[in-house]
Amino acid sequence: MSVNDEEFGKPQINKSESLRLVITGLTVTMILSSVLGVCVYFDSSHKLTSAGQAIGAKLTIPEYFAAYSDAIRDADRQVTENAWQMRDGAQVSLRDLHGFFSMPLRKKVLPQQIRVPGDPRDYREGIHQGIDFYEARYDEPIYAAAPGVIIRIDRNYAPLTKTQRDELLMLCKTKWHGTPGSVITPSADEPYGNVLDKLSGRQVLLYHGKNEKNEPIISLYAHLSRINDTINKGDIVSTDCIIGYVGNSGTSGEVAGNMQLENHLHMELFVGGMYWTPKQEMEIGKRQAPERYSTLQAEVLNELCRFIPPQPQ
Ligand SMILES: [Zn+2]
Repeated sequence: MSVNDEEFGKPQINKSESLRLVITGLTVTMILSSVLGVCVYFDSSHKLTSAGQAIGAKLTIPEYFAAYSDAIRDADRQVTENAWQMRDGAQVSLRDLHGFFSMPLRKKVLPQQIRVPGDPRDYREGIHQGIDFYEARYDEPIYAAAPGVIIRIDRNYAPLTKTQRDELLMLCKTKWHGTPGSVITPSADEPYGNVLDKLSGRQVLLYHGKNEKNEPIISLYAHLSRINDTINKGDIVSTDCIIGYVGNSGTSGEVAGNMQLENHLHMELFVGGMYWTPKQEMEIGKRQAPERYSTLQAEVLNELCRFIPPQPQ
């Protein structure tokens, strides 16, 4: 049975009410079966089990993800109907991800090989919204960091030219004093639009369900070299699914034609309209002292290793 838009706004049927309906349904079915001599399959299990997904709760889509509204609503139906394949995100918040996300790479990663969210990014006068995994090889497989539904998959990615990229970076510093399209800076007027998106290269976005505040839980994978050909928008993926491969699309390495330059995975984890970072709000965008930075690197990595430890190489 599908869950349509109207059902989303209705109050949830409680268990005793469901049980009463089931008993009534079974009684009617048994009477009909015995009278008509037929067997009818009575399925009401989907109303009784929700595995932490709040059936009937209205999803709130933050402004930052407005462009994905339709895809997220479709994905939310998929997640609700297939809750048994998903992780329970009810308790997930920006303060505590509760180990909801796991490692997107199947290799041992050291804290010093990652870059943390909340850092300044001088080359575009902005803030880093994600986690960078350096020292991954070009074309290394990337796995979904949690089970979810694909809401964006860049099958027809068109690279920037060096001239276009240089112009955007120059304007970030001289005109916008930031990177248009980030959580804290709106998109620029056309023809520039979402500059952060253009600098992020080939991407995949996954929707993982909502928490108990009805905030969407989303992950983003950027700079991919290529996409897994066998998956499509709307597909449900597990953490065993390769969604794409590590690359340098959108970076200086791509426009220079050098596969070894800026080759890394950039992953962003969102709860509601904000990216996750272990930093305190006042520290975001500020350069960290080396000892503080290594603590943050360890915190980020520990968070991603809480649910499923990374497999040995
Ligand atoms: Zn990054």
